[in-house]
Amino acid sequence: MSSNAPEIVAVTEVHPLPDGEVRLLGAVRQVTGAMTRVDTGGRRILVDCGVAQGREQMEFPEAARDAEALVLTHGHLDHIGNVPTLLERGWDGPIYGTQATLEIASLSLEDSLGMQGASERESERLLARFRKLAHAVPYGERVPLFDLGLTLHEAGHILGSASAEIVSDASRVILSGDIGRPDSPILRDPNTVWSPGRPVDVVVMESTYGAREHAHSHDDIERDLEAVLKQAIADKAKVLVPAFAIGRTQTLLYFLDALVEARRIPEVPVMIDTPMGLAVTKTYKRFRRLFDKESLAKLARGDDPLDFADLFAVERGRDSRKLRDVEGPMVIIAGSGMCTGGRIVGHLREGLPSARTTVLFVGYQAEGTPGRRIQEAAKRGGKVRVDGEEVVVRARVATLRGLSAHADRKELHAWLGSIPGVRRVALHHGDVEAQTAFASWASGPRSA
Ligand SMILES: [Zn+2]
Repeated sequence: MSSNAPEIVAVTEVHPLPDGEVRLLGAVRQVTGAMTRVDTGGRRILVDCGVAQGREQMEFPEAARDAEALVLTHGHLDHIGNVPTLLERGWDGPIYGTQATLEIASLSLEDSLGMQGASERESERLLARFRKLAHAVPYGERVPLFDLGLTLHEAGHILGSASAEIVSDASRVILSGDIGRPDSPILRDPNTVWSPGRPVDVVVMESTYGAREHAHSHDDIERDLEAVLKQAIADKAKVLVPAFAIGRTQTLLYFLDALVEARRIPEVPVMIDTPMGLAVTKTYKRFRRLFDKESLAKLARGDDPLDFADLFAVERGRDSRKLRDVEGPMVIIAGSGMCTGGRIVGHLREGLPSARTTVLFVGYQAEGTPGRRIQEAAKRGGKVRVDGEEVVVRARVATLRGLSAHADRKELHAWLGSIPGVRRVALHHGDVEAQTAFASWASGPRSA
């Protein structure tokens, strides 16, 4: 280990700066609820304003209300879900993010306000204020943030995602946001080109997979998806895919498009049965200028990577219910990703008792969620409670691995290594085990 290697610090709230401090207000010992205050150059900047999700919890930190501006790294709720709480009592500072992030955030907040039972009027009033305070920042351009400088760099996690760099006269801070995997479908790779010169006092860095390495390649994913679909089509089965609307749905469409265009699977109708997923997919298409080279090349050849002949949009709830009476084979993509709500629940209640159903999980199912219970019931053959009803699981249950939108520990380490002159790394956005494992692995001698 060289003497100028950064100090990597896990599960710690406060990190000093030459002219202030970085304070983690959320996601200190857990994955969700990202919220960090950067006090520098006499200013107080909040980066992300997320909610805790699943079994994780947090209280809204009062120190957030004191911030003079808010920077959003991307539109996932664990980074923006507390924006309404911030705005409720009249907070009216500027909100910065890439244009795509501000649009996805707006969709995502609208959806979550609706789920929490806010009236349409309340919801619209809040969103109007959000849009009024929002300032779009282009990637890679240093813009003034009061008398500080703010630069948003590509993070490759979902459309619009960014790492934030904040510079004062005396300090330089980089906040990773969520970092995607290099070579992810559709998205450009996370930025690894930084301006040299000033050392970086603190890097705040996510560590979701700080203790893991992903083993699956694109080819593995395509092959696994192909096998599940071929079997289901041969059985005339319905394939139910619980998928999150932002990011995962579009990644899945990309892989389906690749299989369809290469004629590796027989023709089968694919239904996007999620209004939120449809809206976000439209946003992806509108911002296609942000796609990676591979997807831009597909577009140039006339192949939209998020569209194919047998893809159908299911907007209305009654059309969704109608699908339950239609015979397979077909693929239905619906939210939510862990089956905690949304249209997938009705499809599961109907489909789980039938051997002519395949449930295809495309993401991690957290403990205690219906998704996890379905995976477990499929192994031991049993019943599961869905939407208040006990149903027998006779369906085939498969899990597609390798679709993570988060860098693994090697990829995190490579990203960190691309930043010159880092003095201190503040880990967050990972459970305690992942943070401590990453800190010791990245500080110690490593093979490869
Ligand atoms: Zn995220």
